[in-house]
Amino acid sequence: MDFNFELTLSADGFYGFLDKNGQWNGMIGDLVSDRAHIAAAPLTITAVRERVVDFTQPFMTLGIAVMHKKSGIEGGNGNVKDFKSVEELVSQNRVDYGCNYGSATQQFFVNSENQLHKTMLSHMSSNDGKSYVRDSREGMERVMKGDYAFMTESTAIEYAIARECDLYQIGGLLNNKGFGFAVKKQDKGHLRTALSSAILELQERGVLEKLKAKYWQAEQDC
Ligand code: GLU
Repeated sequence: MDFNFELTLSADGFYGFLDKNGQWNGMIGDLVSDRAHIAAAPLTITAVRERVVDFTQPFMTLGIAVMHKKSGIEGGNGNVKDFKSVEELVSQNRVDYGCNYGSATQQFFVNSENQLHKTMLSHMSSNDGKSYVRDSREGMERVMKGDYAFMTESTAIEYAIARECDLYQIGGLLNNKGFGFAVKKQDKGHLRTALSSAILELQERGVLEKLKAKYWQAEQDC
């Protein structure tokens, strides 16, 4: 799309959730309070957000998955086996697990009617919020220490696993969803329509797939 833009970071570093005072924060808050016109990020399309902003067509599809560090001999845990499934992770208490606080991933667990997911949410909510991390960087740091499994989006997990050979994914995807850009509800500039048609065109020409392959490819793949 041929237009000029000014790129800024959301002040609080969040993607966006409804805080305790009933205010939207993060990039969603920036749209709601007129501080930005477009949220351009790996921003998950969710029902609660769709009520306050408008999303474009998805530019990428993904799902939630669990990332953990291989036990290995180096860690002194030679007799500890890697988890084969999410159920195995949930039925033990040696390794803690959690997700980004306020993220779409957390929202997924809040909404899910699946019994396993409910059990996982009550674990995360039970210990003073210690299972939650502030952002993906903190999640990755805890994973690298070995006693934490991080639930986040498969796009981020795929990227990390291609670069850190000690990491692996436990089980498959817990859901299926998309990333979209977001704009203010009923934006006067018809930005959403223009962005969506640009996204669809790039997708139809195979450009999005090519870009994903280019940027996810590690210099030395594990
Ligand atoms: N993409 C997510 C969001 O829009 C943040 C990352 C995550 O949920 O793990 O909130």
